[in-house]
Amino acid sequence: MSHSPPDEIAEITPSAPISVAAHGWRAKCLQRLIRMALPVPRSVAIPAAAVRLIAAGRMPPDADLARLIGGAGGLIGVRPSPVDPEWGGPGTVLNIGINEASHRKLAMTLGTDAADALYRRFVQSYAIHVARLDPDMFSDPSASLADVLDAYRSETDEPFPQEPARQLAEVLRSMARAWDGPTARLLRQAKGAPADAPLGLIVQNMALALGPGVTGSGTIQFVDAVTGAPGITGRFRGQTQGRTGGRDGGSMYLTRDARGTSLEDAAPEVFADLVRFGIAARERLREEMQIEFVVTDGCLSIIDAVRVQRSARAAVRIAVALGSEGIISRAQALMRVQPRALAELLHHQIDPHAPRDLVARGMAASPGAATGRIAFSAAAAQAAAARGEAAVLVRRETLPEDIRGMHASVGVLTERGGMSSHAAVIARGLGLPCIVGASAVQIDARARIMRAGERVFAEGDEITIDGTSGEVLAGSAEMLEPALDDSFTQLLEWADAARAMGVRANADTPEDARTARMFGAQGIGLCRTEHMFFDAARLPAMREMIFARRPEDRRLALDRLLPMQRADFTTLFRIMDGYPVTIRLFDPPLHEFLPHDREGMRELAESLDLPLSDVVRRVEALTEYNPMLGMRGVRLGITVPEIYDMQARAIFEAAVEAGRQGEGVVPEIMIPLVSAMREVELVRHRIESVAAAVRAERRAGFTYRLGVMVETPRAALRAGDIAEHASFLSFGTNDLTQMTYGLSRDDAARFMNSYIAQRVFDEDPFHILDQDGVGELVMIGAARARERRPGITVAMCGEHAGNAESLSFCLRAGLDYVSCSPFRVPVARLALAQETI
Ligand code: PEP
Ligand code: MG
Repeated sequence: MSHSPPDEIAEITPSAPISVAAHGWRAKCLQRLIRMALPVPRSVAIPAAAVRLIAAGRMPPDADLARLIGGAGGLIGVRPSPVDPEWGGPGTVLNIGINEASHRKLAMTLGTDAADALYRRFVQSYAIHVARLDPDMFSDPSASLADVLDAYRSETDEPFPQEPARQLAEVLRSMARAWDGPTARLLRQAKGAPADAPLGLIVQNMALALGPGVTGSGTIQFVDAVTGAPGITGRFRGQTQGRTGGRDGGSMYLTRDARGTSLEDAAPEVFADLVRFGIAARERLREEMQIEFVVTDGCLSIIDAVRVQRSARAAVRIAVALGSEGIISRAQALMRVQPRALAELLHHQIDPHAPRDLVARGMAASPGAATGRIAFSAAAAQAAAARGEAAVLVRRETLPEDIRGMHASVGVLTERGGMSSHAAVIARGLGLPCIVGASAVQIDARARIMRAGERVFAEGDEITIDGTSGEVLAGSAEMLEPALDDSFTQLLEWADAARAMGVRANADTPEDARTARMFGAQGIGLCRTEHMFFDAARLPAMREMIFARRPEDRRLALDRLLPMQRADFTTLFRIMDGYPVTIRLFDPPLHEFLPHDREGMRELAESLDLPLSDVVRRVEALTEYNPMLGMRGVRLGITVPEIYDMQARAIFEAAVEAGRQGEGVVPEIMIPLVSAMREVELVRHRIESVAAAVRAERRAGFTYRLGVMVETPRAALRAGDIAEHASFLSFGTNDLTQMTYGLSRDDAARFMNSYIAQRVFDEDPFHILDQDGVGELVMIGAARARERRPGITVAMCGEHAGNAESLSFCLRAGLDYVSCSPFRVPVARLALAQETI
């Protein structure tokens, strides 16, 4: 087989050696259209290697340029052809080759107006993109040909270049160089392009869209870009070339059912051919394509086809449709949807009937609605996320260093910027609701306030943003659950069939549990019970328990909490309908439940009927220098065992109750913050006796599983011993990361940006699992536990479990399941399937 040199310029024919890697996606796509015998004008591919030479000033030989122009005075256009269409590229330049002589000839065949328009359009784009003259001077749509030629001459002191070969050489050079410009580079790198991404170029003979008869250009596609529903959409613009600009001689609908004239009426054979070609292209290219076409006096040319731009919702529907019809395999369908994009489908909407306290409007840059507290900096958003609070990042505009703050936020609002601003692009990528260009608000990040008319909002104030309508609201708003359609369900069913690892949800409340079920979680992998005690109805009993001097008093207070806990668990068991529910015993330091200011302490003294000094002393006694490393988790369970006793009893009684209603429940009890085997042994014995007591009292048989959260390095290292007393282990990678690095998860945001900027860390380890360090502990822990107790269940329930990048690690570690926040469950289901395929 003979190999052509990598920089050889070749006409695209059915058999030409065209590849995506060498010539870009557009060249390959055109070749496929040509192989289907579609009427594609002569097209020549300039491979990336040649484009690199052109950018460096080494033009192809004149003979090659002459070949590109194709002779016969025809006009040509140049289009970019990067490896991935998402990477963009310099704008298409049309009508290259036009000069005084060809203009005269065209005026005779097409008429003066059409010839003038073609020439004027080329001069304008050449002036702006090639000669880099002031765009304002060349953007006036009412300027005549003479005006633009004069402007060109006066700006450059020379007449407009007449030789087609020179015009082409200059266009090629400017496009090749534009690709290397910093803006183009940044934009494509944001879409995942490598730093040295190649660019091919296509030189194509022009099919003229101006002239007599049914003449013009248009696009057609066979699905709706927003919903993905089948249906012909597009436009035909008579006497207009390209997607924009030119002479608009009247826009036509494509199909007859639309109001007004249609291409289907004006040129039925052309329309029928377009539909036929479109259907064939969908099958052959295995993708929904938007076809760009030109009609010249009733004669159809297909000049380009691009993947239909689509919303996340449409992406899912299209992939499922192609997969169901067998045009692509199910595995391919799964690979066509970005796991993160699913998040967009899961978002809440503001209930259209709910009252809205409208503050300002901006551009709806990324769909979904979110309520959170205002954070004026990325660091503030990260700090809020670390506290478990929802934050809306509010910035004048965002910069690349804000990305981590965006990750930590539930939504983004900017005062400036447009639909393709940094904030908009990144938020869409993350599936975060986002409003940009809300110019009615004035943000003063230094003073930490946002003004909107008369109203002033401070950091921490609650707002709601609706990224679907662009509205900024004060406070919270009534939300509607996301709509999950059949395609979504189908795609995730395919994902479930393709993946082996289980996905559960971290859910503490009935709402969380319902969302988790709706999103297909196979159980609850972490129910953080402490959240249940912050409830206003329970806090007094909780405080009474903390202040109790004698175990009997403590038990009395806990007796008040028992029925509430039992009801909590019964509800969760019912919602989870037989799926496993892992309940973590009480974890936080007790002082979190006590008031921190004098006024709060006075109120507490009053309600407990104690002298204020007693309360103050007790609060002080519970204060720790390092509470996250202090009396919390199992340490509390061993020192104040009545709390765990009460929780175990509530769990068992709820299991009996829910079991009577029909749901066979096997509760899983999980002990937090373990570092030594003996801790587990002690707790296990107490729980066993509670279970025995409940069995006897209720005359009920039930089973349960006892497990351990591995969130200290020592627990990971001693996982073998711990496994003796545990039927499952779940890595809590939030605390494990904190303790492995010795880095406070609540304070890390202060210096995380600077650490990442200086490449101390590649990524925030609280966001993306540190596979080298924390990951090694996970590997060691899993191996040691399995060695001692084959068949032990090993899982992960830290934030990392819902992060697509970290899930491939979980697969390698051979975990049995991951447990993440309910909204990340579909993302994890798809990401795990993709990792398995
Ligand atoms: C963890 O530490 O990873 C965990 C899941 O528990 P929490 O976030 O509640 O500390
Ligand atoms: Mg933890």
